[in-house]
This record gives sequence, structure tokens and C-alpha cells, in this order.
Amino acid sequence: MAVPTSTPDSPRPARAARAGSGRPRGQGQWALGYREPLNKNEQMKKDADGLTVRERIETIYARGGFDSIDPQDLRGRMRWFGLYTQRAPGIPGGKTAILEPEELDDRYFMLRVRIDGGRLTSEQLRVIAGIATEFGRDVADVTDRQNIQLHWIEIENVPEIWRRLEGVGLSTTEACGDTPRVILGCPLAGELETEILDATEPLRAVVDRYIGDPAFSNLPRKFKSSISGCAEHCTNHEINDVAFVGVVNADGERGYDLWVGGGLSTNPRFAERLGVFIRPDQVEAAWAGVVGIFRDYGYRRSRTHARLKFLLADWGPEKFREVLETEYLKQKLPDGPPPGVPIQDQRDHVGITPMRDGNVALGFAPRAGRLSGTTLSAVAELADRLGDGRIAATAQQKLVLLGVDPADVEAAIDELATHDLQVKPSAFRRGTMACTGIEFCKLAIVETKGRADTLYRELEKRLPEFDEPITININGCPNSCARFQTADVGFKGSIVRDDEGNQVEGFQVHLGGHFGANAAFGRKFRGLKVTADEMPDYVERILRGYLERREPNERFAG
Ligand code: SF4
Repeated sequence: MAVPTSTPDSPRPARAARAGSGRPRGQGQWALGYREPLNKNEQMKKDADGLTVRERIETIYARGGFDSIDPQDLRGRMRWFGLYTQRAPGIPGGKTAILEPEELDDRYFMLRVRIDGGRLTSEQLRVIAGIATEFGRDVADVTDRQNIQLHWIEIENVPEIWRRLEGVGLSTTEACGDTPRVILGCPLAGELETEILDATEPLRAVVDRYIGDPAFSNLPRKFKSSISGCAEHCTNHEINDVAFVGVVNADGERGYDLWVGGGLSTNPRFAERLGVFIRPDQVEAAWAGVVGIFRDYGYRRSRTHARLKFLLADWGPEKFREVLETEYLKQKLPDGPPPGVPIQDQRDHVGITPMRDGNVALGFAPRAGRLSGTTLSAVAELADRLGDGRIAATAQQKLVLLGVDPADVEAAIDELATHDLQVKPSAFRRGTMACTGIEFCKLAIVETKGRADTLYRELEKRLPEFDEPITININGCPNSCARFQTADVGFKGSIVRDDEGNQVEGFQVHLGGHFGANAAFGRKFRGLKVTADEMPDYVERILRGYLERREPNERFAG
């Protein structure tokens, strides 16, 4: 299978007519000859590739301090290395649209560390923990895309932070920006009897070959990938731009079903199958082919229509497959089967999971992803003492200790609990996720992490009898970083009016979202908005109503 070779400097206008999309011409598709930047982000990327900022950070900005940073780098290219400015303190939600960018910027950064496949050694975790403690006011968030996000980072410390991370094989390269972001993988890949196949090798091959490669460092927008053979579908392939999902074909061969074009944000769309069977040794080229299509044919005119899902919506899976095969891979792919039904309806690997080698994995729930460097250090120590020195992050803001001797399980559960890390959390704690929110995020309308904490603790007190799986996803704005559309109860941050008519922080409610065979987005009920203070009462009310009317074998989750 050929690896695509075109780069941003080698357009292929000859294919323009053949490749025409359902949209009117002129969406900025490079392959159709539209090379002139159509908005300021495209201009910024044309002026200098995002990857070039690293040298300036190391040689100019880290020495000169925050005020020496070029504004185009500050609000654009620094993302190519996982750096975003934090929200300036004291700016209320809903006011951001009327402010100048510099009024929104704090002098501190969020720094995203990518953990492709989710797996860490205790040494790596200890380094991240040390950075959080020493440079980041002891705050660390496990995200729902297997990153660890640090806060309060000063530009002067960034080269030292990179030195420490890279010393243990970690990176922030392309953790943000219009690039291939962290590649999701099953945190227990290679360890479970139930898995379809172990995707560790192809995932690593893609990361090693393409992350930081200028061939893919100027995409129309962000690009999210998942490569997994997990039978629990724990990487949520349905909402990635490209996903390789483990399957067994009619000949008993193990490989991948290829999905493309998923994504949430303000125009949610589930990915679609191309219907092909990808052998493990073909993953690297097929991944590069899909990213190549996005780079060359993706829409660059409007940022809100620049994700791959819009191209897929216009082309459809048949045309997408044909272009992939004929222009990028130069070969036909065989048809393949769809993935099986997930073996359970919770995808977080929380709890006690038997491993192939006779040990167990212990998955546990922090407080809606929020941790500290101090706690991460304790987890690393526990991993060495009671596990085999490995830890993993899930795509549901949870962590897993690997290789715990069954004889040590109770001791490990008790020790984790002393750090408020629950292996046997309530349904509410387990099922609640929250995005970064107004504490740090410049796009936020409302606060999220603290509210998630209050919500699940209240529900634990009020509904101790509720024991079913449930997902409650709390988001600070419509961008849906914590996936409000795919939760049983999804909250989208918004400014609402309270009983006295005052404008206060609140949420638009979406109900009934879920993944799986009959995946559906939650429905937004007209007018169904709650103030932030009303959240616990609201969720209690709908769950009590459900419990009163529940039929035998009925489940709250879709
Ligand atoms: Fe920020 Fe909005 Fe994403 Fe939350 S959903 S992290 S508020 S952009």
C-alpha cells in the first residue's frame, strides 16, 4: 500500500473537477487549486507553519517572557505544542464575544501532554506530577481524550518542562492546533482476553511516523483519531474523525473496520463506516490516506465547517472510499464486517478487570477528571508498589492501575480511596464528566468542574438506591469537549434567567444521548434550561420519576 506523498506545497489541481463536492466551489480545498488563505487562521498557517514556533519559544519567548510573544504565535501557533493561554481571571461567562483577545488572555498557559494510547509508566507519571507540582500550582486534569492537562504554566518554564517530558518519552507536539491530535487507544490493549486484537503496534507506528511531520501540520482544523481492538469500544470510535475498530472477518482474520467523519461540537455527526477491511499492517497507510484527504479536500473557508465531517456529509462514504483507494492508497480494499456489539455498556474500564497474565487492572474515578500533581505522584508510587508500574488514562476521564496481584486488590482499593480515588464509585461519580470550564477556558460560559463535584455528591446523598449506569456530561459552552450530546443527561453551558429574572450561569439540557448500535444524540428539549444551582434538583427529579415508573429490565441509559 502506498503512503501518500503530497504535501502542502504540492497541490494536485488536475483532479479538481473529478473530485468536485456537493458544496459550491471555493471552500478552500487545496486539491481543487484553492491555495489562497480564506481567513486569518489560514493566513497564519501560511505565514509560518505551526511547528516553527518551538524554536521561537526556546530562543526568544522563554527568555523574553510573556510580553515578548508575537500575537500570532500567542493565539495561534503555540497550540501546535499544546499551549493555550488561560482565561484572564474575573471575566464572567457570556461576555467574551465583546472583548478583545488580549483582554481574555491570562499570562499563564494550559499545557496539554499527549498520551497516545493512554498508557504511562510510573516514571512518566511521576515526571508529569512533578511538573504540575513545581510549575503548575499542583493542578492536573485527566481529559476525556487521554491527555493530561496542566495549568498555570509560565512561558519561561516551558523549555525545562519539555526537557523533562521528552526525557521520559512524552510530548506536547500537536497536542492542540490544526493537527492530528492525540491518538486514542484502549488503555488495556494487549491485556484482556476479551479484546478483538491488540492495536498497540499500529498506533505506535502512526505516532512515530506522522506526529510532528510537516506533511500533516497544516490541516483545515483539528483531527481526532482512534485505533483500538477493544471489545468494549472504549475509545468511542463513533465521534472521531478517523477510527480503526477491531473486527474479525469471514476468514477469521483480525483487522479493523474503518470509520470516518465523526465529531461533536455545534454540528454533531456520528462517523460512518467505509465498509473496508484493514489489516494491521495497512493501518499506517490508511490513516495517512484519510488525513491526506482531509488536508487536500477539506474545507478551509469557514472554521465552523472545516472538520472532516462536513466533507463526508457532502461526499458520502462511497465516494470517500473511492478517493481513498484510487488517489491515496492506489489499491482496492476488500469489504469487511462491522464491529460487534460492545460487550458491556460502560466504556471506562473502571472497577476490577482480570488481565491475561492472571493479575488484575484497577480502574478508578477521580473527581470529574480533576487531580493534583501530589495525587498523581501517589498513584505512581502505588503503581510501583502494588501494580507492575503501569498506569493508563481512559477516554472517560478515569485512570487504571495495571498488573495488580489479586492478593493485593483490597489493599490497593483502600489506598486509592485515601486519595479520594474510587475503584467502586457510585453510579453518579462514575458517570459524571466535566470539561475545563470557566476556571481556565477562554471559550467557557459557565463553571463546570466544581459543579460536577457538587452534583454527584448531592445525588449520592439523595438517591443512594440508584445503581444503574448513567452518564452526566457537563460542558461550559456549546463546543462539547465533554460530549453533552452523547450523555444520558447532557448539560451545555449557557446564561439563563433565574426566578427573579436575573441572568445567571446555567445549562441547556439534552436528554437521551448514547453510543452503541443505536447511537443517538441527546434531544434538546425546547426551553429546558436550568440554572446551575438547580442542577441537583433537576437530575434528582427526573431520576425519581424514572425509578417510580421503571419496568422490569428497563435501563435509564439508552
Ligand atoms: Fe472550553 Fe467549551 Fe471545551 Fe468546555 S466545552 S473546555 S468551556 S471550549
